[in-house]
Amino acid sequence: MRRDDGSATQTGTAHTEAVPTEPAAATAPRRGPEAVRAVLPPACREVGQLWIDGEWRPASTGATFDTIDPTTGRHLYTVAAASTADVDAAVDAARRASARWWAMDGQDRARILRRIADALRAHAPQLGLLDTLDAGRPIRDTQTRDVERAARIFEFFAGVTDRLRGANIPGQPGFVNLTRYEPYGVVGAIIPWNYPMTNVATKVAPALATGNGVVLKPAEQTPLSALLIAQVAHDAGLPPGLLNVVNGPGDETGRAIVAHPGIPKISFTGSTEVGRLIGRTCGESLKSVTLELGGKTANVVFPDADLAAAADAAVFTAFMNQGQTCTAGTRLLLHDSIADEFITLVRDRMATIEVGDPLRPETQIGPVVSEAQFDRVKSYLSAGLDDGARLLVGGARPAGAPDAGFFVAPALFVDVEPTMRIAREEIFGPVLSVLRFGDEDEAIALANGTPYGLAAAIWTSDVGRVHRFAERAEAGIVWANTVHTLHPGSPYGGYKQSGVGAEMGIEAVTHLMRLKSIWIGTEPWRSPWVG
Ligand code: ADP
Repeated sequence: MRRDDGSATQTGTAHTEAVPTEPAAATAPRRGPEAVRAVLPPACREVGQLWIDGEWRPASTGATFDTIDPTTGRHLYTVAAASTADVDAAVDAARRASARWWAMDGQDRARILRRIADALRAHAPQLGLLDTLDAGRPIRDTQTRDVERAARIFEFFAGVTDRLRGANIPGQPGFVNLTRYEPYGVVGAIIPWNYPMTNVATKVAPALATGNGVVLKPAEQTPLSALLIAQVAHDAGLPPGLLNVVNGPGDETGRAIVAHPGIPKISFTGSTEVGRLIGRTCGESLKSVTLELGGKTANVVFPDADLAAAADAAVFTAFMNQGQTCTAGTRLLLHDSIADEFITLVRDRMATIEVGDPLRPETQIGPVVSEAQFDRVKSYLSAGLDDGARLLVGGARPAGAPDAGFFVAPALFVDVEPTMRIAREEIFGPVLSVLRFGDEDEAIALANGTPYGLAAAIWTSDVGRVHRFAERAEAGIVWANTVHTLHPGSPYGGYKQSGVGAEMGIEAVTHLMRLKSIWIGTEPWRSPWVG
């Protein structure tokens, strides 16, 4: 297994002094507004502010919104909601800052991005706490894997900053033809709530590495960790204006970003429905757009697989982060000959999952993010039953979970047909659907048989089958005998309704920069009209 939680370097440099790095004292409240207040930057200790041009400020309209702790269902914090005028200010700051940033030596940009990575690690306890309180994601993941992944994303893109290059194309004699990548200037980044801090890093690090300034809108369910990241990045030396955090509702603040004439590039991660809306707006104004959207990943198990490992992975991929993962393996496709045995293995493994308060270090699954998401999951549980699937286990409130939180016990549906809603639509909750197949062709047809195409996974010991599957899968990511293996150096993007363009990897550069072709005549000009 790949280790996400590699050794973290703690840097107590002067660059991190504005935000304390010590974990909150044992007596500090671990939950509620006081716990948030104890770790946010001082300017955000009454209300979470907007971060624009290297300064904290309230919304120009004074508008705010509330975030809820999904473990308790209670109010967690109040945060400023950016208006169109605030988005204007952020765009203006990003445009000015990006011009200065792009004029710097690439190695100086790289050094700052590396410092940000170290500073994120140094703030792991605080960042992890904020995401656990805001999103309900278990603290065992937020304070370790998530921070480490965010830091590594910054480190990977720090390595890109001084390696950007163009080409010299030897086409026509008498001319030198050069290509040059240039930043868009301002990238509008809109992110969802499922992995708040890694979503920030995924959008911000590559945009900064390619010379852009960023106007970032976190999801309204999880606005908090981005505020701390803004301060931490600033204290690590990121010049003002390059990262602007404008929290606010999607259909107001998000819409203002997408429609803004000063933002030539939009990078969005979220639902296919909103992605389609954003793509339409960008199409009308002919704006470049990268879309990372939903998924309905098939996890296909053949009889020659290591069944114990495959069952363990099937449970992990379906239920990690409460199933709120774009690449979650929510369709388990089993060969007829092993289906019954495998379902028993999955069921036994599910019985060992620790569900409960995400602040407990042993918890593996917390609540879903919001009441709306809870209702959505419940509606799909009903849809599964109405359509004739059999709920083998789960779906109710887990025993011992906090009373008012949005908890759903991991659910396993069998007797699922490919036409059922639970087999076709993205639920984004802890619901796993089992389908059966007779041979490889049928497995591939089923795997490809939804409108989505983000990821596909296969379990088999037949290497030829792995290659055939990888080639025929209509998906941007294929995993064989593994799931959820990701790396900042590897591109991530979807086919079909799962997205447009890829992020991460060196390929991200081509999505975040414009390409210019430069022709230089080396001989005296001769008009084609003469002679
Ligand atoms: P989910 O369904 O998982 O909440 P969404 O696609 O609704 O995902 O939201 C993802 C992000 O898109 C959030 O930051 C949200 O505020 C934002 N958003 C929602 N609607 C719009 C919109 N019309 N324009 C721009 N951003 C939006």
